[in-house]
Amino acid sequence: MSPRCLIVGAPWIVAALAASGCAPTTTELEAQARPHVVIWLVDTLRADHLGCYGYERPTSPHLDALARNGVRFANLHVHANWTMPSVASLLSGMAPDIYPESWTTRVPDDLALAAERFGEGGYETAGFTATVATAAFFGFDQGYDTYVELDGELSLSERKMRAGRAFDADTLVEAGLEWLDARDDERPFFLTLHSIDPHAPYAPPAEFDRWTKSYDGTIDGSVASLRGLAARDITPRDRAHLLALYDGEVAFNDHALGMLVAGLEARGIAEQTLLVVVSDHGEEFGDRGGYGHAHRNLHRELTHVPWVLHWPVGLAPDVVVEQLVGGMDVLPTLLDACGFEVDGMDGRSVLDLVRGTSMSPADVYAFRAKQPGDIAAVRTDTHLYHWDERGQRTGLFDLAADTDEHRDMRTGAPALATQLDTRLTTWLGERAARRRPPAATPDGATREALIDLGYLEDGSTKTRR
Ligand SMILES: [Zn+2]
Repeated sequence: MSPRCLIVGAPWIVAALAASGCAPTTTELEAQARPHVVIWLVDTLRADHLGCYGYERPTSPHLDALARNGVRFANLHVHANWTMPSVASLLSGMAPDIYPESWTTRVPDDLALAAERFGEGGYETAGFTATVATAAFFGFDQGYDTYVELDGELSLSERKMRAGRAFDADTLVEAGLEWLDARDDERPFFLTLHSIDPHAPYAPPAEFDRWTKSYDGTIDGSVASLRGLAARDITPRDRAHLLALYDGEVAFNDHALGMLVAGLEARGIAEQTLLVVVSDHGEEFGDRGGYGHAHRNLHRELTHVPWVLHWPVGLAPDVVVEQLVGGMDVLPTLLDACGFEVDGMDGRSVLDLVRGTSMSPADVYAFRAKQPGDIAAVRTDTHLYHWDERGQRTGLFDLAADTDEHRDMRTGAPALATQLDTRLTTWLGERAARRRPPAATPDGATREALIDLGYLEDGSTKTRR
């Protein structure tokens, strides 16, 4: 076998190359069969604010390069519009019905998260997070050999404002690379890095504050100035200012992603690493009158997020998957790519789509999870049906003719609206049937901290953002 034939790949890749006469030996396979896996999870990142998803501002040169040299999923929609249920879905392959319902509950101990599955598969596992939303006391540390909350040692006021270096994506990358340098383990590693930059407050470092113009308004991107905003409070200039600040945060996060890629290359492991970029939900900027996320909206500005896979020796470059896929498909796809059996999950591996093999369409369902009955949606490859128990935001949208999802066409297609309403009702019923009581609640001190952080209202379970 010539050196060109040496590969580090999952069994399906190995099999494909074997068919072309380029088969490694059994020993080489045992030593090299699994790649390292790094998940760059970006909180609050809209797909449509990224270059490789068609945005006009150059916010994401590093992600764009990864997509050119890897696989970009053009239509990933997540199942919830706020962090905890969506991250739990991404990292468990399960629909968001058995996750934290609010900031007073946590991921059930018996829900197998990605780190547990990779750990059982022989990986060393580490997770670093810059947001309290995936803190250990919510159960997101399950399965990790090492789990670090970058803001865990800060004062409450600092955590409240998310102002400080502990929240910055470059700090996160440095922590992850330090862990890599310190490890002494022959096993492949599974590493998650949960960055928070595009989340409010929108305050990019000066170097990345590239699109704001002179502005003398009152909405400065701080958490305090954004709280409770609605369209009536915001002028076009305010909105443009917020979008420019948000884009600066996206650009800064992308800069840190570039640091991560360079760090993997400098250590000689970029080729053998399956690098995954994904987000948990988007952000509203008055698209339908609201701002922020976690509110009564499951339209594309909140559910359409990026998903890019980069693995030079394992995946073909410049692949774009157009078919609709869901957040719960992410983990089974990663496990499949790494050569593991995929079972017991609601999601499915969509690796066939990466290979160019057709798969049957699958609808993507979503609800808010903290109050499962209030809004829900089903997205097909052609339509979105959005249901609101108050009726205000119930509608049927033709995704080809109305890409922004603004024109309710129920009166023109009543049969389709009824069909999707029935499908959504059935799905919600199935989810309700298997719901369990909340796994646990944070203790008194944690609860107090969450109230002070503005996540939790005193005396209720209502979430603000
Ligand atoms: Zn989030």
